[in-house]
Amino acid sequence: MPHISFSAFKNWTTCPFYYKLTYEDRINLFNGNEYTVFGTAIHEACEYKVQDPNVDEQKIFLESFQKNLDSLPEDARLKIADKTIDDMKEQGLALSVEALPGLKDYFGDDFEVFSTEEQIMQPITEHFDSKYDFKGFIDLVVKTSDGKYHIIDWKTCSWGWNLQRRSDKITTYQLTFYKHYFCQKHNIDPSQVETHFGLLKRTASKDKVELFRVTSGDKKTANALNILGNALYNIDNKKFMKNKLSCQRCEFHKTEYCP
Ligand code: SF4
Repeated sequence: MPHISFSAFKNWTTCPFYYKLTYEDRINLFNGNEYTVFGTAIHEACEYKVQDPNVDEQKIFLESFQKNLDSLPEDARLKIADKTIDDMKEQGLALSVEALPGLKDYFGDDFEVFSTEEQIMQPITEHFDSKYDFKGFIDLVVKTSDGKYHIIDWKTCSWGWNLQRRSDKITTYQLTFYKHYFCQKHNIDPSQVETHFGLLKRTASKDKVELFRVTSGDKKTANALNILGNALYNIDNKKFMKNKLSCQRCEFHKTEYCP
């Protein structure tokens, strides 16, 4: 079955032609940088720590950081200054120990881990006859003593998110999709599931871990699925419009692929 992930959907909403270059033509001009290395390492430290409070999350962070740094292509690795690497290691050591206490501050002590890095691969059947699955990995699901499930997606950032980012429709649709397909997979009533972003702030001096709730009711879910349906219709019909409003920050801008 072909599938679509949230990041592919998001890329399509940014520019359908960008989607074509990356997912249909499989052209990849971005192979990672210091931020992706940091994000992967801190995610890994959080993943293991919430499963087992006895693990050394700082050791996991450092090992993962070095492993991912070493696996960058040489040209990408050479662009990163040694001072940046040292700073990031320090920031990661300080941040990794805050994740579990941050969860406990938010949910209290009365929760259990339901799953980490849970794969979702569910058929998209709403609104149209689609042959696609929705694919995603949910960072963390915890269950609180009131029987509710809480889906959490960790987001690495520098100092935090502003209001615009927190309420951005497409950004929050990630949790909307995760909730919808998680409920479908486990046959759980959506009223029993809440969703949250967990900000992991690399450079903040305090409140390095901040969780906040994002709501996804019936109307929002229907809207998100409609846009997903529209994306898949256009992808199936090979309609890939260029969105010139997104060119400024695009790696294909003024290259042979998108002059
Ligand atoms: S340069 Fe602009 S039109 Fe071309 S793929 Fe990127 S965002 Fe789309």
